Amino acid sequence: MIKEMTCVACPLGCQLTVELNDKNEVLSVTGNTCKRGEQYAHDECTNPVRMLTTTIKVNGGSLPVIPVKTSAPIPKGKMFDCMKVINSEVVDAPIKMGEVLISNICDTGVDIVATNEM
Ligand code: SF4
Repeated sequence: MIKEMTCVACPLGCQLTVELNDKNEVLSVTGNTCKRGEQYAHDECTNPVRMLTTTIKVNGGSLPVIPVKTSAPIPKGKMFDCMKVINSEVVDAPIKMGEVLISNICDTGVDIVATNEM
């Protein structure tokens, strides 16, 4: 099977062509300009991960929500569960930038941190 994808490891956005066997194992990667593209293709085909950026409701702040992000990429398949947890949370102001608001979300080993202060 052939899979086409865009490498997002840097702004160049190389168009990758990935050849997979029946077990979804990567046989070859072409179109990448550097080694990171090959790694990206492997990760994307075996365990795709994404950074999650969103907001959390705030109690007692100057605004009703604060922007947050994951401290590291999380498995794409856990995005929905993580959003359910984040949407059910209300955090108390004051909040410092970089403060961990939810630790080890959905047992990913990744924290949800504030990207602003309030
Ligand atoms: S293959 Fe390399 S140069 Fe191309 S987008 Fe990915 S990281 Fe950037």
